Amino acid sequence: MKSHAQAVVIGGGVIGCSILYHLTKLGWSDVVLLERDELTSGSTWHAAANIHGLHDSANISRLQHYTMTLYNRLEAETGQSCGVFQPGSLYLAQTEAREHQLRLQAAKAKLYGMNFHEVDRAEAERLHPLVDFDGIRCIMWEPDGGNVDPSGVTAAYAAGARAAGAEIHRFTPVMATVHQPGGTWIVETPKGNIATPWVINAAGLWGREVAALAGITLPLQPTEHQYFVTETIAEIAALDRRLPSVADRDGEYYLRQEGKGLLIGAYEKDMRFWAENGTPLDFAHELFADDLDRIEDNMMRAIARVPAAGTAGIKRVINGPMIWTPDSNVALGPVPEKQGYFCCNGIIPGFSQSAGMGLMVADWIVEGEMRYDMFAWDMARFGDWADKAFTKARVGDQYANRFAIHFPNEERAAGRPCRVRPAYQMQQDMGAVFGLNYGWEHPLWFADQPGVVDTNGFTRQNWWAPVGVEARMLRKAAGIIDISNFAKYRCAGAGAEDWLNAVFANRMPKTVGRSCLTPLISVRGGIAGDFTVTRTGEEEFWIIGSGMAERYHARFFQMVPLPDGTVFESLTEAICGFNVAGPKSREMLQRLTNASLATADFPFLHSQRIELGGVECLALRVSFTGDLGWELHCAAADQVQLYTALLEAGREFDAGPVGSRALMSLRIEKGYGSWSREYSPEYWPQEVGLAGLVKMDKGFLHKDAAAKVMEKEARETLVLLHLNEVDITASNADATGGEPIFKDGAGIGRVTSGAYGYSVGMSLALGYVKGAKAGDHVEVMVLGRPHKAVILAEPPFDPKGERLRG
Ligand SMILES: Cc1cc2nc3c(=O)[nH]c(=O)nc-3n(C[C@H](O)[C@H](O)[C@H](O)COP(=O)(O)OP(=O)(O)OC[C@H]3O[C@@H](n4cnc5c(N)ncnc54)[C@H](O)[C@@H]3O)c2cc1C
Repeated sequence: MKSHAQAVVIGGGVIGCSILYHLTKLGWSDVVLLERDELTSGSTWHAAANIHGLHDSANISRLQHYTMTLYNRLEAETGQSCGVFQPGSLYLAQTEAREHQLRLQAAKAKLYGMNFHEVDRAEAERLHPLVDFDGIRCIMWEPDGGNVDPSGVTAAYAAGARAAGAEIHRFTPVMATVHQPGGTWIVETPKGNIATPWVINAAGLWGREVAALAGITLPLQPTEHQYFVTETIAEIAALDRRLPSVADRDGEYYLRQEGKGLLIGAYEKDMRFWAENGTPLDFAHELFADDLDRIEDNMMRAIARVPAAGTAGIKRVINGPMIWTPDSNVALGPVPEKQGYFCCNGIIPGFSQSAGMGLMVADWIVEGEMRYDMFAWDMARFGDWADKAFTKARVGDQYANRFAIHFPNEERAAGRPCRVRPAYQMQQDMGAVFGLNYGWEHPLWFADQPGVVDTNGFTRQNWWAPVGVEARMLRKAAGIIDISNFAKYRCAGAGAEDWLNAVFANRMPKTVGRSCLTPLISVRGGIAGDFTVTRTGEEEFWIIGSGMAERYHARFFQMVPLPDGTVFESLTEAICGFNVAGPKSREMLQRLTNASLATADFPFLHSQRIELGGVECLALRVSFTGDLGWELHCAAADQVQLYTALLEAGREFDAGPVGSRALMSLRIEKGYGSWSREYSPEYWPQEVGLAGLVKMDKGFLHKDAAAKVMEKEARETLVLLHLNEVDITASNADATGGEPIFKDGAGIGRVTSGAYGYSVGMSLALGYVKGAKAGDHVEVMVLGRPHKAVILAEPPFDPKGERLRG
């Protein structure tokens, strides 16, 4: 075994082997994979190994599509069979909501050039004569769907990697990973040690144990999962072709041909956790005792849909473990607190995603960043708050609802509340309906009584009208928005200004009390974040950014060394905040403070430390609503006092609490982009309209990359769309994000955020398009069906910024 390597992958399941293969594809051949047992010894060997291309997320669809198309090429390249069967997959909708979901996926497939389209019942019956299609509202067909041989695929990745120079050591458990002072690692095994700059945890079922070797805690929890295979079914034996698989998600089972019988698997409501206190180290090619009673309801629904399934006995039952994150998406990316430690853990559809995940890991390690925006899959979306209890509660909920539709704006209740602010109880009493943001409970909207919960769907839900009342109240008078979930940082010391200038693309304010907006530039020159930086003292700055991206952004802040004597610290927990905005916000706030809030004394993009309602606040004259307004930041201990004072003052002006759903609508009326929707590393500054804030006459993080991309033509541009009222009213739905945009029948882009603009009376969407300009008429695929829309030349609310600056 070699003593040094460019990267060491821990775990020889399908994911570890794919990572090794893709590292070699991107040119790294001095790489090693260590497997404690035989390859495939975790979840991999017993998987049903179904493969699907389409996913609600466009980027995951891209990665799944890449995976599905790689298997045949991999087989040809290595000579190792991957056991690929692609007889196609039929997707069935029993409910209206499922129909919306499938139609939306079909529209996305058309935009991205993937094959997934509707077929009529006659065609579906020809494709799968054993299915009873009664009660099915809509059927989609994915000709490339199918399944693979789990061991074959793993062996093929391994063969491809070995052929390119990688080493694989089986029966070589990693016993320790020791971080070295320079940031590199020593990986210890009974066969010797390897020094490496990159440790990659692909230990699947043992992801937690391997992470713990490096002092890392990952939010992972295994569960049992079962499928069974029937004896030969006469009708199948009589066929001269393989039947397509059936994705009847409303029935909560999966079904495909296996041999001359059927394979049926289920995510049952009465699920079972496994290995809550750690995965046994001696567990390998083992299974659990069958417990088909638990999945009986699902089985009966499968048999009702495919009656032939009930005619044969059960040949084999597989009840094996799989490991989940709290939201069932992979935990992917370098650990921000441990240089050179990369995670790729908790992947549920490992065979649909193996190649995509391998490519993403290799992208990041070799090139410094992934080619796609993977923020929703980044391990940094979880922090310490995602503890064992939270993880278990969320995993139980995810498992039991694996095939339920995850609606836009949906907030699941499991494991909550997790982190709350002092005003939580007060807000609850006022009827707040909460959402989860990086562990924090924050008010989404206010119902007329406590205890109301969101209804969920693709159409307008129970919150749509109350959110309208809040948004209109703010535009007419004022609104009080809890913004405590924003990330807040303080940078202080003699080197603070220089350091911030070296990090951010905009020039830092020279004058105390001035604020600036600034992008953070990603490794490839895209937008890694957007921040407000305020000079609060000669040598002190406050930085406000996205709360959910705090751990993600930590990676970037670490890239520029802090000068000695300069501190950079998070204030997110210690500080709470409210945004008070609207035409009467000044008058209202003036009742609570002796500081003058007149524009002459307190202009836009300025800040002051003021006392307001008896509470010390840092007041910033900015508002994401696009209206006249202030952000007021105070110590967490003062939050209730400040909130009480604001609500009391608001009464006189018919102003009151406003939630973050209204904030989303208000910022779209103004055309403002938001992190992870419009702003992401995938987009260049000139594409998102932030080029003016990138100052090329100074140094900043990833300036060379920014210069390179900014020399080029924008590939797409961010536009604001007004959707046709008649179409939208007929659907009773607004765009929510992800909907494809077509022009003259050709796909030209996609929506990034959508909302009804209550104060302007328009259904609006922000999105990226190519080859279209203001005034052009396009079609937005709301609910997967075309809705007429026009590209606006300017935002419908306060286009000149008179309210904002007034
Ligand atoms: C019943 C069942 C059915 C499934 N069906 C499907 C399906 O139809 N489609 C689909 O896409 N997915 C399916 N899956 C999920 C799929 O199996 C997983 O997504 C996939 O196998 C995960 O692979 P992995 O490489 O991440 O982890 P694992 O397969 O768990 O591999 C981890 C490897 O790391 C090794 N390791 C652990 N600790 C160490 C150490 N200290 N040193 C060295 N090596 C170590 C282990 O021995 C193991 O080989 C199914 C899973 C189950 C349980």
